[in-house]
Amino acid sequence: MPVPLCRETILNIKPYVPGKPIEEVERELGIRGVIKLASNENPMGPSPKALEALQRSLARINLYPDGSCYNLKNKLASLWGWPPEGIVVGNGADEVIKLVAEAFLNPGEEAIMADPTFSEYEFATLLMGGRAVKVPCQDWQHSLEDMAERITPNTKLVFICNPNNPTGTIVRGEDLDSFLTRVPARVLVVLDEAYAEYVEDPQYREGIDYLRRGAKNLVVLRTFSKIYGLAGLRVGYGLTSPEVAAALNRAREPFNVNLLAQEAALAALEDQEHRDKSRALNREGKEYLYREFRSLGLEYVPSQTNFIFVDVKRDGRQIFQELLKRGIIVRTGDIFGYPTFLRITVGTPEQNRRLVEALKEILA
Ligand SMILES: *Cc1c(COP(=O)(O)O)cnc(C)c1O
Repeated sequence: MPVPLCRETILNIKPYVPGKPIEEVERELGIRGVIKLASNENPMGPSPKALEALQRSLARINLYPDGSCYNLKNKLASLWGWPPEGIVVGNGADEVIKLVAEAFLNPGEEAIMADPTFSEYEFATLLMGGRAVKVPCQDWQHSLEDMAERITPNTKLVFICNPNNPTGTIVRGEDLDSFLTRVPARVLVVLDEAYAEYVEDPQYREGIDYLRRGAKNLVVLRTFSKIYGLAGLRVGYGLTSPEVAAALNRAREPFNVNLLAQEAALAALEDQEHRDKSRALNREGKEYLYREFRSLGLEYVPSQTNFIFVDVKRDGRQIFQELLKRGIIVRTGDIFGYPTFLRITVGTPEQNRRLVEALKEILA
């Protein structure tokens, strides 16, 4: 592009490739009953309590939302035993990632992240004119050792996706301990725990533990988009020190979280039963898919989340297209640098069976 008007750094950003929406696939292929196992949404749907809260709130959407998310922050504060001054609510955890970069990353500064990992970290880094330093995973896991070694005087941020998207792996608590002790105070660590509620490995350690023990340069991300089933409303948050939260709040839009999202999130927090059921459904679904993948001779990365990174051992895009024809949307691994892989969200038992039947047909 000759003499573009936009900032040079914008040209470095590859546009995000989202999971295809159901409606788009139905429209393009002229079929119905399409299922989406592409974006790690909760296949059980939202909590009935959240739906009730939404209905109660609908008539108030002429009003601006509470820009401070007072009720939601206070609820979260009591749940976590963490002061509301150390909580920043965003239009999805994605927004909090962007706020971190906007508030902390100067042009030319480095953000360290795993490869493969969640693409928003690189996006936010490039947006601010920063440099994304990608450190290859080992055995599908973050190599915290290598990541620590890549810290330079120019490093400002480190992103740790725990569990990691797309691999579904965690970093072990003891590895995180020693990593965090090596990080200088001038570097901010973002621990993205979008899938924490699904983790079953006892070696997992939650970021809040480090905050409680006084970590200042740490942001822990949580979201209502995954197990809480509210992806369409966009709400997530960061737990951090009040000092870091104050900086993030300066960069935040005044009404960044809509009224319905705040009400639904509040109600969803009350629904432990919905979460327990979602977790149980996911565990069963995962075991079923593992078994079926094995019998199809496919290797997969054992996952601590609600998705599985599976090697279909041929062109993943082709398998993706074949699945699409059968009304099943998944994610191709090529966007993460693994062209023979698919990332598949664990669905309901019926959706999982449909996926397996389709895979059997395609791979036969
Ligand atoms: C889905 C996801 C998020 C959360 O996104 P929202 O913006 O809250 O919907 C954050 N991090 C990772 C790794 C994710 O996969």
